[in-house]
Amino acid sequence: MVRSDDVDHAIARREFLRRAGTAGLVVAGASTLAGWTGLARAGVLDAPSGDDTPADPDAALARLMRGNRRFVRGKPKHPVDSDERRQASVGKQAPFAAVLACADSRVPPEIIFDQGLGDLFVVRVAGNIAGPDELASLAYAAEHIGVDVILVLGHDGCGAVETTIEVVEGRADPGEYAILTDAIAPAVRTAQSSGATGTELLQASVEQNVRIVTAQVPEQSHGIDAEIARRELAVVGGVYHLTTGKVTLLD
Ligand SMILES: [Zn+2]
Repeated sequence: MVRSDDVDHAIARREFLRRAGTAGLVVAGASTLAGWTGLARAGVLDAPSGDDTPADPDAALARLMRGNRRFVRGKPKHPVDSDERRQASVGKQAPFAAVLACADSRVPPEIIFDQGLGDLFVVRVAGNIAGPDELASLAYAAEHIGVDVILVLGHDGCGAVETTIEVVEGRADPGEYAILTDAIAPAVRTAQSSGATGTELLQASVEQNVRIVTAQVPEQSHGIDAEIARRELAVVGGVYHLTTGKVTLLD
């Protein structure tokens, strides 16, 4: 049995969200302010996934990894696909993390970290490299949106890295992929120096590529470097494993 005052409250809240979404946070009457406070207390606005809003880079990384554990266990929450949350986020985004991931169809960050609408600022490009476009996007996420962590995410069996190995070994012509293979080649050469071959070389190159990009991001962005110096941001690297679904963070 639905009481009429519950219905009234729901309608008032929806109306408030509609206005907040279209006009930003303007003058709010007592009842709408109460609605806003209630939503914030319920975690609807501050914590889109119903998870805690991270207070620092460590907490942000921990929240990502909790989501990955839910995904690995096969018990994702599929957070925030409600109409309420979508409306609440119309006027402003507040993701807690940025992920620089490969464009590979098997590595969608929102799914493998079990996060929802508005939770992640995602930049994807084959080989998860940090060219000028990707760096500018991440700098924007750090400086203007205020994400607490940037995760550079490589993955097992990366086709972009595999192609780069073929190019470096002289077995393939990079052609129009050269902008990618040129960026990944230093990682492959470093991995080759360990003597690895075959799938071991591929895995070592994937990891080395993540390490190089993780170092490049603060080196090549003053804004990101400054956020790290203030301890308001961390840039970390990880590798996603296709067979288990697990993300392993690199040291
Ligand atoms: Zn890939």
